[in-house]
Amino acid sequence: MKILLSGVLPIVAPALLLGLIHGAAWGWATAALGLLLIVLMQTRRLTVLAAWLDAPDRAGSVPDAGGTWGEVFTRLSRRLHHDARRVEEVEAELQSFREAMDAVPDGLVILDASHQIQWSNRAAGEHLSIRLPRDDGAIIEQLVRLPGFADYLGNPDGQAPFILRSKAARSRVYAIRAVPLGKHKQLLVSLDVTDAHRVEAMRSTFVANVSHELRTPLTVVSGFLEHFTDGGVMSAEQRLYFARIMSDQTKRMLSLVDDLLTLSRLEAEDAPASEEEVEMDPLLAQLLSEAQSLSEGRHGIQILCHGPALRGNRKELHSAFGNLVSNAIRYTPAGGEIRIEWGTRDRLGVFSVQDSGVGIPAEHLPRLTERFYRVDRGRSRETGGTGLGLAIVKHILLRHQAALLIESRVGEGSTFRAEFPAWRLPPLA
Ligand code: ADP
Repeated sequence: MKILLSGVLPIVAPALLLGLIHGAAWGWATAALGLLLIVLMQTRRLTVLAAWLDAPDRAGSVPDAGGTWGEVFTRLSRRLHHDARRVEEVEAELQSFREAMDAVPDGLVILDASHQIQWSNRAAGEHLSIRLPRDDGAIIEQLVRLPGFADYLGNPDGQAPFILRSKAARSRVYAIRAVPLGKHKQLLVSLDVTDAHRVEAMRSTFVANVSHELRTPLTVVSGFLEHFTDGGVMSAEQRLYFARIMSDQTKRMLSLVDDLLTLSRLEAEDAPASEEEVEMDPLLAQLLSEAQSLSEGRHGIQILCHGPALRGNRKELHSAFGNLVSNAIRYTPAGGEIRIEWGTRDRLGVFSVQDSGVGIPAEHLPRLTERFYRVDRGRSRETGGTGLGLAIVKHILLRHQAALLIESRVGEGSTFRAEFPAWRLPPLA
């Protein structure tokens, strides 16, 4: 109505007037001219509108059109600005969603009905070597070419996750699960299960080791027991001989079980139950007397104590130091020298056991504290070793924030050194 009044009235009125004064022809001619003018003006404004819509002014200014067209431009401009702001908000939300998905440590991949990759996050890149946009639209089975993977994807319901050992990072293990997404899509979720696998592998190796360690003495004992029970004739000497061997094997099993219990106790708690100022003179004297009884006079043993008291758990420290001393005696042939020392160096408390024994080849040093790791299996067994001594030492030292350092030369001897932090020593006077 407004357009009609403002646009058509200024033409109709003069046309009517001229028609009345000069005749109908003049009236129609004026009306036609006026309409032509209107059409030209509207066309020009439409052209301006089209040009502006192609490149709307972001700064917010609208073409100067005036009147009804001005209002149309202003309304359109407002709507365009509102839409542009909404698009920016949605883009920002999408970006923060992408960042959140990239921060997820699990790999996520969206597959369409034909298993083409539609989207994946950063972890999926590491786990499955997917690189976007390079692999956008690629079929996942062609990227992850592992036996069984395609079968799993074809029918993942009710199956255990697919286990993938990464080619790129050989030591990593991933569990992949496929879950339905909407009607036709799938979401692949990959989880890094390397640590769980390592623990599981360690557990089964440990069980196998313990069983093996127990099996040997048990076989010996059961073999001799059969001799006793099958009623065969046996001299008193033979009986004594068998009984002695069975007693040795039983002691071996007992010390294995003792060491296993000690290890499991140490692993159950992070820190010693109690700590005190441990006077080192009496502890070293006790170690000396135990060493002498184990050596039975075959070694020269000396102790040197020139350090202060040590803050820690006496029982645990005694167990760790005792293991080092017993190793020194067991791996040093008769006539060798053993030196047990406590002192300080660079504000650290240092307990060391030096022997002139068989020594250890350098390649074994990094693995010595692993459970059941032995350089010379035969010698360890002969001398009553369980293969757990240094694992116990390492645990106890860790609980006392101490480091274990080993130096050794084959045929010349070894030095095992435990270094305790300064705060475990009394403050300097
Ligand atoms: P084991 O009961 O077999 O002695 P440990 O854990 O105490 O077990 O020691 C692991 C291995 O380290 C031993 O089997 C031995 O080969 C080596 N070892 C430990 N201490 C010494 C040492 N003082 N001299 C030479 N070899 C040693």
